[in-house]
Amino acid sequence: MNDSVKLLKSLTDIDGIAGHEMSVKALMHDYLTPVSDEIIEDNLGGIFGKKSATNGNKTLMVAGHLDEVGFIVTKIDNDGFLRFTPIGGWWNQVMLSQKVTITTDEGKKIRGIIGSKPPHVLSPEERKKTIDMKEMFIDIGVKSKKEAEQFGIEMGNMVTPYSEFETLANQKYLTAKAFDNRYGCALAVDVLQRLKNESIDINLVAGANVQEEVGLRGAKVAANKIKPDLAIAVDVAIAYDTPGMSGQVSDTAIGNGPVVIIMDASNIGHVGFTKHIKDIAKKHNITIQLDTTAGGGTDAGSIHVANEGTPTVSIGVALRYMHSNVSVLHTDDYQNSVALVTEIVKSLNNEVVDQIIW
Ligand SMILES: [Zn+2]
Repeated sequence: MNDSVKLLKSLTDIDGIAGHEMSVKALMHDYLTPVSDEIIEDNLGGIFGKKSATNGNKTLMVAGHLDEVGFIVTKIDNDGFLRFTPIGGWWNQVMLSQKVTITTDEGKKIRGIIGSKPPHVLSPEERKKTIDMKEMFIDIGVKSKKEAEQFGIEMGNMVTPYSEFETLANQKYLTAKAFDNRYGCALAVDVLQRLKNESIDINLVAGANVQEEVGLRGAKVAANKIKPDLAIAVDVAIAYDTPGMSGQVSDTAIGNGPVVIIMDASNIGHVGFTKHIKDIAKKHNITIQLDTTAGGGTDAGSIHVANEGTPTVSIGVALRYMHSNVSVLHTDDYQNSVALVTEIVKSLNNEVVDQIIW
């Protein structure tokens, strides 16, 4: 494993849904400290490393998000089964028979399984339907509510997907939970790392917001705190390169380069900044993919309307099986998106920023 893959592994191994990002934040603190001049934190848990400009007084915010999709325990029934509600978007069909981790208030990790019926008992009609999330339950392997409570389980506990970080047949294909958006967290660290011994002409504030998956909430406070002149929201994009999706809507594929989002439901990528990014990619021979996503958004949606307006673009990598236990990311895309964001930072100074903001 090279350093970037190790970074992606350690960040995706950690558990943290919206509002429960403490462990992810602590790990980011460890990674950002040695590559930053200063650590900036907001009061909800967002964390950023700042590298100061040698010349110039403009600021670029580069933000991923710390939170991943998961669930919250809402009830323990008398037989010790846990009921739950989703935090972030889930499709019922990817949930049954999956392993999850419940984190107790004391930080104890308890394995659970989202239980399912065996096919033998399903009627032909039932087999065709997806199960309503409200009917699902988590089995942690206890006999009663009392026994579940003895293990520290309580209403409000965080539930996260569980799966092991692995490389697939071609070692460039990685699978893990939470690439959305520990990918963006890793990128922030790697960009600061690459620039560590370089002098730059814009203040770079790179890190991650909280609570993206529940409505781009943390980005609002982080942008208010940082007051950037320009921003890049770093997040995963949808890969349309699998059976049933390819050839429709978009040709975005994993392994084909970083994705620049022209527009989504939350943001119209700033036209001047987008053009600049396309020019930089061309100059450095980085192949990019342009995409639009009608449904869904990124933290760009909150950042661009913060303060007096912040020209913002979303950049990311295509990801297969987003919001499931087993998302798939391509290491070439990761490296190329780190290279692209690094070159964007190096290209910016007071004059260039003024030209971008028309
Ligand atoms: Zn997401």
